[in-house]
Amino acid sequence: MPVMQCGEEKCEQPISVSVAPEGNPIARELGMCVAYVCCEQCGRFWCDECAASGSACPECGQARTGPSPPHALMVMMGHWRADVLATVSLTRSDS
Ligand SMILES: [Zn+2]
Ligand SMILES: [Zn+2]
Repeated sequence: MPVMQCGEEKCEQPISVSVAPEGNPIARELGMCVAYVCCEQCGRFWCDECAASGSACPECGQARTGPSPPHALMVMMGHWRADVLATVSLTRSDS
């Protein structure tokens, strides 16, 4: 699953993108942000804490949107403007 970084300059919170509506449970356990917002115009992501600063993108003014399965799929397929930090396979070995 793709891991993005928060677009806020001083924030290094990793953001887990998942098609699961509640976010990936393993990513939650690892302390990754699963309740992000993003700007479809710029491709930037923000963690839930930085998202509290406003509802519009500081770059282009477009309304920031929350996670949705179609959006997560788009990121996974590589159809997203921003670079994906890492792709981590987060699965339990004991399941
Ligand atoms: Zn924007
Ligand atoms: Zn942040």
